[in-house]
Amino acid sequence: MEQQKPKYSKSLQRHIVTCPHCGADALDHMTSCPKCKGVLEPQGYSPILNSPAQKKVKKILSIILYAIAAVLLVLIVYERFIK
Ligand SMILES: [Zn+2]
Repeated sequence: MEQQKPKYSKSLQRHIVTCPHCGADALDHMTSCPKCKGVLEPQGYSPILNSPAQKKVKKILSIILYAIAAVLLVLIVYERFIK
């Protein structure tokens, strides 16, 4: 199994994509080719962040944070006016 010397380490090799425009190596998170500046379609770019479930969780978390902030604000105002 010794045909070619790998140009990149194994962990990096998984992130190497071939540019469809010039055939140069680019990384999968790149949106443009480093050689020809052609547009690349990022593959596997933040798949967790792009999943709808993650987006939903983020939205819920931000709503909870806003709710906590609102409650704190009301409490501060309440304390000031009552005491
Ligand atoms: Zn290219």
